[in-house]
Amino acid sequence: MYIVMLGAPGAGKGTQAEILARETGLPHIASGDLFRQALERGTEEGLRAKTYMDKGELVPDEITISMILQRVDSPDCAEGCLLDGFPRTLPQAEALDRAFEQRGKDIDRAIYIQVPEEELVKRLSGRWLCRSCQTSYHVITSPPETPGKCDKCGGELYQRSDDKKETVQDRLRVFFAQTMPILDYYKKQSKLITVNGNLDIQGVAGEIISALQAPMSR
Ligand code: ADP
Ligand code: AMP
Repeated sequence: MYIVMLGAPGAGKGTQAEILARETGLPHIASGDLFRQALERGTEEGLRAKTYMDKGELVPDEITISMILQRVDSPDCAEGCLLDGFPRTLPQAEALDRAFEQRGKDIDRAIYIQVPEEELVKRLSGRWLCRSCQTSYHVITSPPETPGKCDKCGGELYQRSDDKKETVQDRLRVFFAQTMPILDYYKKQSKLITVNGNLDIQGVAGEIISALQAPMSR
C-alpha cells in the first residue's frame, strides 16, 4: 500500500506515520528528514536545500522529486511506503503519479490530518526531535522520560531551527498557498481521507486506522 500523509507543518504527519509504520511494517519516508540527513552528510543536495529550509520555503520541485523517486525505488518500498511531507505541490503530485504509472504502482490513499492553526503553532513551538532516529516529542503532550534524551535510542533531542516563531508563520503561509491545492487533486481521484487531527495522538491514530479499513466511496 502506498500512502501519502498530508497536513500543515506540525499537524502530526511524522508522529502518525511512525505509528502506521509500526502497525503495517511499511517504511516511513519523510522528505524533510531526507533533506536534513543530506545536510548532515554535507552533500550538494543538502546544502542547496538548506537555503530554502532556513527561510521556510519549499525546496525546488526538481531536487525534491528526484530525491524522493530515488528513495521510493529502493527495494524496501517494493510493496508500499508511507510518504510524509511529499508531495507538497501540484507538480510533485503529478510527477509522483507519472513515475508510479511507469512502475505499475499507484497511490492508494492520501490522508489529510486537519488541525486548527493555533494548535499547529503550539505543537511546533514545543517540538523536540531525536538527532539519531528522528522520533518526535513534545514538551507538554508527549515528553521524553528523561529530558533531552530519546526514549527509543538514547539519542540527543534538539529543536529544529525552522520551528522558531517567524519561520513557522512562513511555513504555514507556504502550506496554505502551495500544498492545500493538492487536497483537491486527491479528492478528484477519490483517494482523499480527511481526519480530525485535533485529538490526542492515540485518538488521531484510531481515526486513521478506521478510515483506512473502511471502503472508499468512488
Ligand atoms: P509534522 O510531521 O506534521 O510536522 P509532528 O508529527 O512532528 O508533525 O508533530 C508536531 C509536534 O506535535 C510534535 O512535538 C509532536 O509530538 C506533537 N503532536 C503530534 N501529534 C499530536 C497530537 N495529536 N496532539 C498533541 N501533540 C501532537
Ligand atoms: P518538514 O520536515 O516536512 O517540516 O520539512 C522541512 C522543510 O524541508 C520544509 O519547510 C521545506 O523547506 C523542505 N521540504 C520538505 N519536503 C518538501 C517537499 N515535498 N517539497 C519541497 N520542500 C520540502
